[in-house]
Amino acid sequence: MGNKTTWIEEEIAGLKESGLYNTIRTIESPMDAWVTIDGRRLLNFCANNYLGLANHPRLREAAKRAVDEYGVGPGAVRSIAGTQTLHVQLEKRLAQFKKAEACITFQSGFNANLATIPALVGRGDVIFSDELNHASIIDGSRLSRAEIVRYNHNDVADLQRKIVETTEYGRRLIVSDGVFSMDGDIAPLDKIVEVAEEHDILLMVDDAHGEGVLGEGGRGIVDHFGLHGRVEVEVGTMSKAFGVMGGMVAGKQVIVEWLRQRGRPFLFSSAMTVPDTAACLEAVNVLEESTELVEKLWSNAAVFREGMQNLGFNTGYSQTPIVPVMLGQAPLAQKFSRRLFEEGVFAMAIGYPTVPQDKARIRVMNSAAHSANDLEMALDTFERVGRELGVIL
Ligand SMILES: *Cc1c(COP(=O)(O)O)cnc(C)c1O
Repeated sequence: MGNKTTWIEEEIAGLKESGLYNTIRTIESPMDAWVTIDGRRLLNFCANNYLGLANHPRLREAAKRAVDEYGVGPGAVRSIAGTQTLHVQLEKRLAQFKKAEACITFQSGFNANLATIPALVGRGDVIFSDELNHASIIDGSRLSRAEIVRYNHNDVADLQRKIVETTEYGRRLIVSDGVFSMDGDIAPLDKIVEVAEEHDILLMVDDAHGEGVLGEGGRGIVDHFGLHGRVEVEVGTMSKAFGVMGGMVAGKQVIVEWLRQRGRPFLFSSAMTVPDTAACLEAVNVLEESTELVEKLWSNAAVFREGMQNLGFNTGYSQTPIVPVMLGQAPLAQKFSRRLFEEGVFAMAIGYPTVPQDKARIRVMNSAAHSANDLEMALDTFERVGRELGVIL
């Protein structure tokens, strides 16, 4: 067989040695406030299931009904024979929900970025990109072959400076995450819009963690800042708060039309499945009918964040239901997460290289699915483990 893969074995051994090997837990139950792992029930703070829609009875029913009517698979890419009534309905409803001119859906948020960035810029063009942007923005940017100019995180003055300093360019694009997934902070989109308008640069925001979370009833970051019509591209995902799977771009009609012609994951990868699409449509219905889940999410997050701060924990820059519990070194964060797990709370440690070397943390994902009792149990458990490990007094 030779030794063509020896280097991979060595790399994997290295990951294990340095504690960076990714051990993947298997969930044996539906994704919800509580999950079953290794036969044990655990209180879940790891999922992006912000609104508890991943196992919502209405979404489950909608998916089942659609399967009975339309089957399971789309059978083709959208542009050949994969566009079904459900896809058209979903795009129309999403555009209305988000008060955008138009909307196009993709198989995932990752694919939405891979489709959009290379369709908008190419060789000789330039992308101004927040240094903490998501991997799918980075990959989409690289695929485009445009020059990537990184600006300091959420630093509008630095963005402005980089724009002025960059004099060789064809077309230009500014791109930022809406909510940053590791710190739970929000991009200053109101200020970024002004810079984009001043310099006449196309603006794209990836609102994956803000979709269903920010704005009135979860309408997203553009709605949160009241910037309707001023942000050309708002990427979103239906894999997080929507509880399903899928990506979208809402924004200017001409860009959506262009993506149907030039978005490669749209043209060369099959459409969203029938049950996914139907469940996403039902998620829009749920969100349009009531803001209750979104309000519950935010009040749960506030209870948790304030509870943790009162206990003496450092919750970093969190402005959203993502609450990092800052611990410092990675081994401490790993140990903290392991102890929480033993005590019945599932919350993930995040360390280098996902976050800087001395900024390891437990990342807590709050959800409307949690009850008041759940939050109390979580705070009690964090308090106990925090004292045991000397993080709080
Ligand atoms: C999660 C995430 C994505 C990927 O979304 P999927 O639908 O899971 O592919 C893209 N961008 C950002 C900013 C994200 O946080």
